[in-house]
Amino acid sequence: MKKRNTVLILGVMSILILISVQAFIIIGIWQQKNEMFALRYNILSKDALSFISRRMSTDGFDTVRFLLRQYSEQAVKELHEAKNEKELAAKKKDILDYVTTVVNKEQDLSGFLSDYFGRRGFEKKFNYSIVINDLEMISNDTIVVYRSQDFANRRLPDRSGKPAPPESYRSKILVNWFPWEDNNYRLVFDYFIDFSDKQQLILKETSASLGMSTLSILLVGIMFMITFRNLMEEKRLSNLKTDFINNMTHELKTPLSTITVAGKTLEMPQIRSNDAKILETAKLIGKQSVHLNQLINMILEISMWERTQFQLDKKKVEIEEIMNDVVDSFKSGGGNNATINQKYNFSGAKVDLDIVYFTTLLNNLLSNAVKYSDKIPVIEIEGFTRDNNICIKVSDNGIGINKLDQKHVFDKFYRATTGNIHKFKGLGLGLYYVKKIAEAHGGDVTVSSKPGKGSIFTVIIPY
Ligand code: ADP
Repeated sequence: MKKRNTVLILGVMSILILISVQAFIIIGIWQQKNEMFALRYNILSKDALSFISRRMSTDGFDTVRFLLRQYSEQAVKELHEAKNEKELAAKKKDILDYVTTVVNKEQDLSGFLSDYFGRRGFEKKFNYSIVINDLEMISNDTIVVYRSQDFANRRLPDRSGKPAPPESYRSKILVNWFPWEDNNYRLVFDYFIDFSDKQQLILKETSASLGMSTLSILLVGIMFMITFRNLMEEKRLSNLKTDFINNMTHELKTPLSTITVAGKTLEMPQIRSNDAKILETAKLIGKQSVHLNQLINMILEISMWERTQFQLDKKKVEIEEIMNDVVDSFKSGGGNNATINQKYNFSGAKVDLDIVYFTTLLNNLLSNAVKYSDKIPVIEIEGFTRDNNICIKVSDNGIGINKLDQKHVFDKFYRATTGNIHKFKGLGLGLYYVKKIAEAHGGDVTVSSKPGKGSIFTVIIPY
């Protein structure tokens, strides 16, 4: 139990470590791809900008410049005319709104860029955003209309000469920083592009490594499950074997010790002079030897089965007749303290059977019905035909079998927990035999049971 838990904990921990390592790698790859993506479009944009200014002698904002030039003189005048702080603030806001609208709407840069990207086979669909950092109106003096907090806090320019973008725009790709000074105004703004399906584009690029990681995690998980199940199965078999050896030793010891005691008895002078006692002891020895022989034969036979294919000597027989014979001889043997009721409806069906094995099958079911009982056994045997099969149901009023044991009672050497305390003797082979014999006839056996109420074993054999 301890070993099993350790293996399970170690296994689960290794899988968790593997998943974390893989997740770590994937996050790393993702971040790298993300940065590469931004870098790629940043470089492309720079190329595009120099191409546009070289070939078209514009930066894409010609209309904006023209409009602002017209507007700024009037705007400065209005600022100077403001009567109080409130009016001044309202005027500043109007100016900022107007400039923002014009810069956003009247530019051609987005179209140029989209064209440039598209022609080179890159993604051409993107959103753009323009962030105004600084706006001043100048005539004799300078009036600051707007200065963004981010702009004021900007870090030093990076190597490309541009200051780092404001915090809130870090996820977008900065294309350029435009500082202008013109008639009556000074304006500084950033131009960003933003791909709405960026995640999908990166996902497409990382799908191979993602798939491989998931697959490797899955494979390791499956391998672990298989190994763990094998380990459990091995453990179960080894427990079964130990139980079997204990039970077998116990089973063999009982007749052997009776024989030993009987032998000793025969040596006693008062017994030797008593013919009746000698005969009784000799009979006891004979009976125990037969039992011993039976046990040994059973074990030998099982190991024979393992090595060679089950050989049946089948004959067409009337099933009802065979059933009656087996039950009668069972009654006259060990089963005479049980009430056995039979109800057959075979309609004269003839079945291909190996009579010896079939007798063993039925005997094993009947003797279990008697053995695993805590009251006077009442056994019902029902027989009928259904869909080209004969069905035989053996029901008892015994101790029953719990759900977990029901799954294993037909396994070799398996004994339900109550069986191991030697209250009920056995080797865990009877039902294994039953199953093997039923299967060798092309049929099967199943069990249904309620602990404390009784069990029903159903054998099906095709005919
Ligand atoms: P054995 O009787 O030698 O233990 P079997 O293979 O015949 O081996 O049975 C396997 C186990 O199934 C038994 O140990 C017992 O716990 C359970 N069992 C079998 N038949 C019955 C029954 N009729 N009622 C209750 N338990 C049963």
